[in-house]
Amino acid sequence: MERKLVSIQRVDALEPIAGADNIVKARVMGWDVVVKKHELAVGDPCVFFEIDSVLPEGLPWAEFMRPRGFRVKTARLRGVLSQGLALPVDILPEGVGVPEPGTEVSELLGVVKYEPVIPDTREIAGAFPGQVPKTDEIRLQSALGVLDEMRGRDFYVTTKLDGTSATYFRPLDGDLIACSRNWALARGPNPVWRMADAYDLERVIPPGFAIQGELCGPGIQKNRLALAEHDLFVFSVHDTRAGKFLDHAELIDFCAERELRTVPVEEVVEGDAAAEFPHSLELWLERAKGLYADTKHRKEGIVVRPLHDTWSATLGGRLSWKVINNDFLLKDED
Ligand code: ATP
Ligand code: MN
Repeated sequence: MERKLVSIQRVDALEPIAGADNIVKARVMGWDVVVKKHELAVGDPCVFFEIDSVLPEGLPWAEFMRPRGFRVKTARLRGVLSQGLALPVDILPEGVGVPEPGTEVSELLGVVKYEPVIPDTREIAGAFPGQVPKTDEIRLQSALGVLDEMRGRDFYVTTKLDGTSATYFRPLDGDLIACSRNWALARGPNPVWRMADAYDLERVIPPGFAIQGELCGPGIQKNRLALAEHDLFVFSVHDTRAGKFLDHAELIDFCAERELRTVPVEEVVEGDAAAEFPHSLELWLERAKGLYADTKHRKEGIVVRPLHDTWSATLGGRLSWKVINNDFLLKDED
């Protein structure tokens, strides 16, 4: 499922905030968001802006965000965590009516996504190969249906690393393709291609397979793993001929055989423990907290997947989600 940056949603609940006269806490999907009192009622449709929305300049309804550079970020107001922005549907341009719940309206409102500018001298060689799914993870709060889809299944949790996404694809015939999040990169002295050489990926990836991982190390994001050198941490292996991802155990073996590292596996939950596991948003938000192993740096969060790759109707793709550490969002995010 593509992330919906701004969409029509319903206010599911409202709660007073102790000591606050003008604001209340609202629940929209899995998000807690502080809203103006009396502006929205339970059951009302609203325009919901996810964190990292950047509002347009020059429109009256967005002016109140000027002091914050128009960017929607995680905030704590009167001790209450607020993630996103919920506004009444009357901010929509005249004549569009109220679209169906779930409708994406970011373009209609001129909202774009905040993208940190990563200094990048890498040269683009071409499009991302169409045979390989791009890397992405939905935020749990925006797709709560996945909890029921996971219920009862064996699953595993990995640490979400904050490096940069790298995909390496060896076509059935032709040379290795190395990609950043969205593009195939020209062979050269960039970190993505240097990893390909370091691990001899041209040779160790079987024809028709792609590996996807997080490239971390000095100069990439904040290097919160405190690595001395760049390294690649694999989180997916895709068999393009079969059109599917390897299961967890297959990925572990695949990487071990090739001396590739994987993202840290925090836990594997199977059998009775998995059958009875009480998946809930609250539980996962708690589990997402903590530090990167052997560091004093808060981790960005976790990624949760079934041991056996599973189709998700909620996501319209592979069942997998991320839970971002709210302490990280409040204290460490740029
Ligand atoms: P959003 O979707 O919330 O707008 P975004 O698209 O920038 O944000 P990220 O927050 O970077 O996405 O999350 C997805 C990315 O996380 C993946 O593309 C992948 O590069 C990276 N990642 C890091 N660690 C892992 C992991 N353990 N498992 C899967 N992906 C991971
Ligand atoms: Mn995304």
